[in-house]
Amino acid sequence: MARYTDSVCKLCRNEGVKLFLKGTRCYTTKCAIERRRYGPGQHGQDRKKQSEYALQLREKQKVRRSYGVLESQFAAYFEVATRQKKVPTGLKLLQLLESRMDNLVHRSGLVPSRAQARQLIRHGYFTVNGKVMSIASYQVLPGQVIAVTDKAKKLLKTIHENSPMMDAPVWMTVDKENMTASLVNHPSREDLDPTIKEALIVEYYSR
Ligand code: SF4
Repeated sequence: MARYTDSVCKLCRNEGVKLFLKGTRCYTTKCAIERRRYGPGQHGQDRKKQSEYALQLREKQKVRRSYGVLESQFAAYFEVATRQKKVPTGLKLLQLLESRMDNLVHRSGLVPSRAQARQLIRHGYFTVNGKVMSIASYQVLPGQVIAVTDKAKKLLKTIHENSPMMDAPVWMTVDKENMTASLVNHPSREDLDPTIKEALIVEYYSR
């Protein structure tokens, strides 16, 4: 499946929630969903009661799009999540998504959006434990240190002038001065977005 190339704000309007796909703009009044709180297109303002299946599908799409993951990759994460028994499947799925390199680079506050993080990672701007890592989907392990290469520090400083670094979540440590970040531990359910209904995603794949 090809990567989505249309306006990402349409995705937020389609899901009816902010997916924070555009970095700094998402926190301003320029955000498209702040201006038009209805779906895109001719029938965007029609409100229909959603079936159970539609609710499950929408929740899956919302989470998948928010993390910027392709359909097949998302299904593969779900498959991995079902194979382990220690953590509930829905939580494990979210932990796998949160452990992605592009997500952690964004969560650390180094880069304003996951899309930007992905692009910079592919250009070889980040290292993991001292080695350049250019795979955005790389699963970072607790304790591994993400750092910025020298060539990227100047660029990130310019980005931070227009978009100050956001605070990292409690399950990460960040050294803002040296631009390093680390995953302390996989987040617990309480640490994650309470609006995500991962049970619906589990139901979607269990049909
Ligand atoms: Fe979504 Fe950000 Fe666009 Fe707002 S500005 S609609 S949060 S991508």
